[in-house]
Amino acid sequence: MPGAPLVSAVALGSPHVEQLGEFELRVVDFATASRAELAAALHDAEGLLINSHVPADASIIELAPRLRALSTVSVGFDHIDVAAASRRSITVCHTPVLSDAVADLTLGLILMSARRLNEAITIVASGGWDDALLGVDLRAKTLLLVGLGRIGQEVAQRALGFKMHVCGYDARPDLPLIAGVERVPTLADGLARADFVSLHVDLNPSTRHLLDDAAFALMKPGAFVINTSRGGVIDQAALTRALGEGRIAGAGLDVLETEPPAAGDALLTMPNVILLPHIGSATVETRRAMLDCAVDNLATCMRGEVCRYALALS
Ligand code: NAD
Repeated sequence: MPGAPLVSAVALGSPHVEQLGEFELRVVDFATASRAELAAALHDAEGLLINSHVPADASIIELAPRLRALSTVSVGFDHIDVAAASRRSITVCHTPVLSDAVADLTLGLILMSARRLNEAITIVASGGWDDALLGVDLRAKTLLLVGLGRIGQEVAQRALGFKMHVCGYDARPDLPLIAGVERVPTLADGLARADFVSLHVDLNPSTRHLLDDAAFALMKPGAFVINTSRGGVIDQAALTRALGEGRIAGAGLDVLETEPPAAGDALLTMPNVILLPHIGSATVETRRAMLDCAVDNLATCMRGEVCRYALALS
């Protein structure tokens, strides 16, 4: 007799298919499926596996009246209507197993920005040579981390190794910090002091457009903004204005409000802007660990066991 129905929006191979063998697994391409096809697949589903490209909003959740578990292959859950899930007592699980990969990429963007590596690469690739392309040291520079959760603290550890002065701001004032990190009393205070501002908050109503015109106005003209969190944390139009008017020195962005950016986006042609295609967690080891974790989370929930990576929903 087939087990409980599961829908996966993520293509699965061996060994994940075997791991979910006790359930009736259906793989559905949410990008191409019609609403009627989604409704047919989800009508009796008790588990759903998605990633951050698949929005699980209230309209999707309502197609699955028997849903018990929603597992995402991501740490961020801004693509899920957690309030709607909570109202239905659906367990939502995520994969906080990617902090090192994202922290490494963040340091990559800090180093690229400080040493103007994208400009240097472009000069050499186009047949030029400029050994006087001056950047700035990281030593003794102030790095403000906005968000001191898992990824923020991994970035802190790495930045201390580069002899930076690391300070941080988090909405949770009681969060324990690693030694050597100074807590700033307000975001405004940190923005005014920082040479590098790196964003590590989750996207939620309190962080949407956290960096806006007013925030950029507080920053030093030589400061760089680094974003490996979510595009929506920055008001991208305000960032474009600040860069265009030389009010800040540059930006390193793994995430954008619109991904991929529109062809005419001004950020694409600014030499002091580094744009990456949302690859924070994109290493072989980390992406494998994320999928392992998400499948494991789903199987755990479906068996009625306690999942250590379930979100605490109110
Ligand atoms: P986390 O929950 O451990 O840390 C987020 C921190 O932000 C928390 O400490 C929280 O208190 C703080 N915060 C929330 N709202 C705030 C506010 N208004 N002001 C100040 N602080 C606030 O999460 P994490 O594992 O460190 O991940 C952070 C985010 O990184 C994820 O939510 C995700 O959006 C993003 N991310 C991006 C990539 C990528 O590919 N670029 C990969 C993984 C995660």
